[in-house]
Amino acid sequence: MENILTEGLQALGIPAEREAVKTLAAYGRLLADANRVTNLTAITDPADMARLHFLDSAALLTAADFSGRRVADIGSGAGFPGVPLRVLRPDMHLTVIDSVGKKVDFVDASCRRLGIENVNCIWGRAEELPQLRERFDIVVSRAVAELDVLAELCLPLVTRNGLFIAMKGPDCREEAEQAEHAIRTLGGRLREIRPYVIPGTDITHTALIVEKIAPTPMRYPRRYAQIKKNPLRGS
Ligand code: SAM
Repeated sequence: MENILTEGLQALGIPAEREAVKTLAAYGRLLADANRVTNLTAITDPADMARLHFLDSAALLTAADFSGRRVADIGSGAGFPGVPLRVLRPDMHLTVIDSVGKKVDFVDASCRRLGIENVNCIWGRAEELPQLRERFDIVVSRAVAELDVLAELCLPLVTRNGLFIAMKGPDCREEAEQAEHAIRTLGGRLREIRPYVIPGTDITHTALIVEKIAPTPMRYPRRYAQIKKNPLRGS
């Protein structure tokens, strides 16, 4: 896994210390071990894990400057994209949020074990954390919800002038258009739709980068059932 990571990071133009690559590989091993007992990820082959979890996550470093930033990963699952970002940017402060306790516990225990510091793990729902409102410079999220729903979970947590970055598949223009009203209503503006190829694959993913240009109105986020039933869409 280390070779794939080293070559992939080079291909992405991301300089990485040998120590960081070792830490990522060790995190992958912990994930594979834990996954034998608890279902944390469907990706188990080490080479696939290197590319589809670690390099996919790392690619976000080409989309924004994470150094020294307070970053939240919403619906982080087994720690993606947040943990690889944190390992590759040691001066970043990461908050991992997930609604499933065993996933948060895995990330917490693994980061402690590998000495990955400045990681705060929260078991909870993103829309039920008013104490974290507008507290993050960057909020990232992969594979959690459609963009119009996801925007309501994430944008309230972003500070003014901060970023919300959603990781999506190759064809997300329609999804982005459908979310335009939600993003605007929540104080955001779509800055960029940025495709990238995961090194060592022919898979294109997309980083949707939204900047926060105004405070989110206090009536958002709503309860999840409301958000889901009635996503913010223009008429
Ligand atoms: N981001 C990880 C990845 O890409 O590997 C995990 C993706 S998994 C498909 C979606 C995760 O989002 C699940 O772990 C789920 O528990 C979490 N989730 C869904 N809705 C959430 C919410 N409202 N707040 C926090 N976590 C949520």
